[in-house]
Amino acid sequence: MSAVTGADLSEPLAAALAAATDDRLVYDLAGIEDRHDTLRRELPGVQVRFAMKACPVDEVLAALARRGAGVDAASPGEVEQALRAGVPVGRAHYGNTVKSDRDIADAYRLGIRTFATDSVQDVAALAVHAPGARVFCRVATGGAGAVWGLSNKFGCPPADAVRVLAAARDAGLVPAGLSVHVGSQQMTGEAWHGAVEDLGEVLRALGRRGIRVDHVNLGGGLPALGYRDRRGNPLDPPLDKIFAVIREGMDELRRIHGGPLEFVIEPGRHLVADHGAIRAHVARLTERRTADGTSQHWLYLSCGKFNGLYEMDALQYRLVFPGHTDGPRVPAVVAGPTCDSDDAYSHEEGLVPVPKALASGDPVWVLSCGAYATSYTTRGFNGFAPLPYTWAGRPDGTGADG
Ligand SMILES: *Cc1c(COP(=O)(O)O)cnc(C)c1O
Repeated sequence: MSAVTGADLSEPLAAALAAATDDRLVYDLAGIEDRHDTLRRELPGVQVRFAMKACPVDEVLAALARRGAGVDAASPGEVEQALRAGVPVGRAHYGNTVKSDRDIADAYRLGIRTFATDSVQDVAALAVHAPGARVFCRVATGGAGAVWGLSNKFGCPPADAVRVLAAARDAGLVPAGLSVHVGSQQMTGEAWHGAVEDLGEVLRALGRRGIRVDHVNLGGGLPALGYRDRRGNPLDPPLDKIFAVIREGMDELRRIHGGPLEFVIEPGRHLVADHGAIRAHVARLTERRTADGTSQHWLYLSCGKFNGLYEMDALQYRLVFPGHTDGPRVPAVVAGPTCDSDDAYSHEEGLVPVPKALASGDPVWVLSCGAYATSYTTRGFNGFAPLPYTWAGRPDGTGADG
């Protein structure tokens, strides 16, 4: 049995969903805090920098800050929000390798002193607009084993990382670290193993050039536990194994480095996905014949790709239909309410058994959708408004509409 549980709907979340009479996104703050604390136990000594784009909600940032976490911010706007929410500036870094001169200057003015980089052009700009700052170089990964590989836009090969950090040193910056991102919702321990091998290679080469970094940033990629794949099969990430590989990797990198080496990790979806759920409602369950004459059920929900479920093209979320636990089911394509045909689960592989008796207005709970739901919400595509959010298990029981 996994040492880490949490794919199941928590009691406070279920109670808040049941009590909701309108559509909303509900976060279980205690669940998020527990997930953070478990991560700290699994990876002792590792500093957590929450990738705030996964849930840029003040209360979540504040709660994590109270547990000792900081943030991985990607723009001056994110830095400002984190500081406003109570994250100490020393626990925030600028983790985006993409930034304009102005972004750098603004972040520096806000107090940011640690920046990600992956090019000599970015290093030159940092030297001007963030003089003396600490920089860490992102090493590219292949992204294999992840639901979303992040292999092209970011990072450089190990040999170039040495050149980039040498350029940083020559420009008066502090070559402070290395980073990776093994791809989002990474499902394998092997990906972490490969990343550690690449990082070790860079540490050795840096040593030969007399450059000593003080930390390695392990990036994001830790999985959510409650997703299903596009065909509806549970994604069951080997989390215990992933943690074991990371622990061994940290030992290995410390050995190679031959001195004190700190570790940072930037979880995004792992901390929040399973502790957010949407209370939506049924727009309509229909049965329609398509152009080729086959008949198909479609379940249209009140929320979809443009207001909470942006990742529905790559995933299925578990659905709960309160009040319809028994009775016949029909296989249906699940879709959102807009006039965009991408606003749906894959209609070829992703049929979901849904209660045949569903009526317009019936509540539907969409589970494990706490990650990226707010960031990926449009301002009102087709007039479907962003979902308000509330809290599960708040002592005052009132919630806090966003
Ligand atoms: C988005 C992002 C993360 C978080 O990724 P998850 O897969 O959600 O954990 C971490 N680090 C960086 C630099 C990111 O851009």
